[in-house]
Amino acid sequence: MTQPEHHPGRPHWHCTTCGDRWPCASARRRMLAMADANGNHAALRLYLLATQAEAESDFEALGTLKEQGDLHDRFVAWATPPTASRG
Ligand SMILES: [Zn+2]
Repeated sequence: MTQPEHHPGRPHWHCTTCGDRWPCASARRRMLAMADANGNHAALRLYLLATQAEAESDFEALGTLKEQGDLHDRFVAWATPPTASRG
């Protein structure tokens, strides 16, 4: 059973499926699950850093960068691997 993909709609970076600001909750869950399955959170983090940079340049072009808040919080900071709680 396939779930709908939650892709970013550029240049505004709203989810094309649910309309939330991307990465929406579903996109985050999906990406974290994939990183868990691959055991490769470093790759996810690199992807998110690249995505943040793309979004930043889109927002800059749109003139909305100042309204976006902390892009690092939004795009990257949530993807912390759960190693901290594993001791
Ligand atoms: Zn979504």
